[in-house]
Amino acid sequence: MPPVIRGRAVPGEDIPACRGATIGGIVEIGRGCWRGCAFCSPANRVMRHRPVDDIIKDVQANLEAGQKDIILHSEDFFSYGYRSAGPDQSMILDLVRAVKRQRPKTIDVSHLSLASVYQNQNLLRQVSEIVGVGSDQNHMSAWIGIESGSCRILRMHMPNKARPAEIEDWPEIVRECYSLFAEESWLPVASLVLGLPGERAEDVIKTTELVDSLMDYTGLMLPLFFTTIADTKLGGSKGFSRQDALPEHWQLVGLCLEYNLRHLKKLHRFYQERMTAGFGVHLALRGINLLADIMLNKYIKRMKRGEPPN
Ligand code: SF4
Repeated sequence: MPPVIRGRAVPGEDIPACRGATIGGIVEIGRGCWRGCAFCSPANRVMRHRPVDDIIKDVQANLEAGQKDIILHSEDFFSYGYRSAGPDQSMILDLVRAVKRQRPKTIDVSHLSLASVYQNQNLLRQVSEIVGVGSDQNHMSAWIGIESGSCRILRMHMPNKARPAEIEDWPEIVRECYSLFAEESWLPVASLVLGLPGERAEDVIKTTELVDSLMDYTGLMLPLFFTTIADTKLGGSKGFSRQDALPEHWQLVGLCLEYNLRHLKKLHRFYQERMTAGFGVHLALRGINLLADIMLNKYIKRMKRGEPPN
């Protein structure tokens, strides 16, 4: 292979089919994102989607190779077939029906935009129904990007994050989506970006307040330090490191850890249906979960006082 291959973005119908099973049963349904967040590389890719038949070929390649669980991958599942007027609901539902007809054990989506969910709440309920959440599988999961609770930071680096809603509505959008996820047994795995250029203590406090309001909803919360990615709008900026962290950042990380520990046992129970591990491994994992409660508590306490964990 040449070390660097240069080329243009291929149209969705030219994305080649997989030759075998993929890690985690990931099946690509589209590439690119139109929201244009300043720190994100998919924002630079033209948005395009693969035809249903090609997606089904990849699903079949996975199932034939022994994979049982399928994860439909794009930057936003509800953007499949997106046109200027918004998501194409019938295309999304047809895709889910076609995948379901292949009879995988479970179906999940990799990424979902909260703004899309907020505008299409009934679509999420319909997807749940076709997939059989609560009957054929106990939950569905999706990676979502909360990124920040500060509308000032969102306006600076992610002005399209809430569209077509206003950016000022973001905290409310997040809360309403979490309530819907709980109602429909969807597990959100959420990312937060800490230390975006220009972030102040008051912005971090807003994110902490938002996370605090979500504590009772099951999920995972992943606070990530801002890292520069070449070719993004923030490509030339300095990444965020431990030395840059304010006491407010540690308080937020501590709260996220507390949130994750609170839900870890339930998540383990939910994810068991996707795991091939035997009884012994599950027992060991349960033990690790219990140990984590004890061992990590002192770090949580330190961070919630605004101190680094060690
Ligand atoms: S919405 Fe997500 S995928 Fe799209 S540009 Fe923003 S961070 Fe990237």
